[in-house]
Amino acid sequence: MVVELISVGTELLLGNIVNTNAQFLAEQCASLGLSLYFQTVVGDNKERLESTIQLAMSRSDIIILTGGLGPTEDDLTKESVANVCELPLVLDETTKIRIEQYFKNSVYKEIPESNWKQAMIPNGAKVLENNNGTAPGLIVEKDSKTIILLPGPQNELYAMFKEQVAPYLNQMQPEIITSTTVKICGIGESQVEDKIKDLIKVQTNPTIAPYAKTGEVHLRITAKASSEADGKKLIKPVVQELKDRFGIAIYTTKEESLEEVVINLLRKKGLSLATAESCTGGMLGSRIVGVSGASDIYKVGYITYSNKAKRKCIDVKKDTLKKYGAVSKETAREMARGGAFQSGADVCLGITGIAGPNGGTEEKPVGLVYISCFYNNSIYVEKYIFKGNRQKIREQATVKALDTIRRCILESK
Ligand code: ATP
Repeated sequence: MVVELISVGTELLLGNIVNTNAQFLAEQCASLGLSLYFQTVVGDNKERLESTIQLAMSRSDIIILTGGLGPTEDDLTKESVANVCELPLVLDETTKIRIEQYFKNSVYKEIPESNWKQAMIPNGAKVLENNNGTAPGLIVEKDSKTIILLPGPQNELYAMFKEQVAPYLNQMQPEIITSTTVKICGIGESQVEDKIKDLIKVQTNPTIAPYAKTGEVHLRITAKASSEADGKKLIKPVVQELKDRFGIAIYTTKEESLEEVVINLLRKKGLSLATAESCTGGMLGSRIVGVSGASDIYKVGYITYSNKAKRKCIDVKKDTLKKYGAVSKETAREMARGGAFQSGADVCLGITGIAGPNGGTEEKPVGLVYISCFYNNSIYVEKYIFKGNRQKIREQATVKALDTIRRCILESK
């Protein structure tokens, strides 16, 4: 089935807000196995909105609109859909009661007159409950087309889509969609694609779709089958084939992040962790403490940005800094070792680099990063040159650091 997305709001056209709803919905549609061929952004203008809806209805089966469901005059999505579908707006008693209830539980004493507008729905539309706001979502069915209207605010949209729209869309399809994501770290996107070219070429069911993320590549395997169990049966041999091809580079085939995998691995092995960061300035530590229960594992994070801090906190030798510089293999090695000894942790990860945009030289360019890991009485150090701006370089170094911890433990003899 072909789906089309219409994001409504002048603030999107002006660049005041980023269209994150479109990204979320596109991802969700892909994982439901729907073919999304068109996306449009349109302002709060009735004529342009109506002609956009008409065009979408002429070429797609399902049209999803977000935004413009609010109580104010410039919220026109519902009115435009009703007009195009030639459906009168009628009062929905259940929504009216829900709006009353919503205001009763809020700080507002009186219900603003304009909010009653939100209880009006195109005749015959299915109402989607909004547990996080007043605007109900709506599903309108007209001439074998399905038009889904969703609120703009993220917390309202995400919950409504996952809890009510996704099951609705799934039951519209003759077959159930099942998917698994194989997450890869340490290999670039084009290398990954090269390795699976043959699989992608002959794919029918399941399909394999690569997605690049900072420092990672995800392969989403999607199967269509009459039941979830049958879908999983189709996916299993493909996952096995990918495991054979990528080996240790696959860090998980579950819904978990790289840092969760690292923390779980350390826990399983009974190991504690410390970090000694320079150019990432705590980014690695922040990702680690984002994992619930990390406090059992993570002892300390040193942010040793200056040479003095490197010397005082984690025993980097003055001579090493003088001879090789703060961004060097030798300093990285001493950071990992010093951090481990100072903290008593079993594993210590060190990062030192030049995030730019200034400070690079021909010998030591912007993006040069050394990552070191102390584990099992040995120190592993690797040199990388990352591309991108300051933020991107720091993010890539952080991902590589997490992967280094994982690989050092798994590959240790
Ligand atoms: P409300 O009931 O709050 O008025 P609405 O359905 O009318 O919701 P809009 O008024 O269009 O939605 O947008 C409300 C807010 O939702 C915006 O200010 C913005 O923060 C967020 N929002 C709307 N559309 C998008 C979008 N496409 N991507 C990200 N955020 C969005």
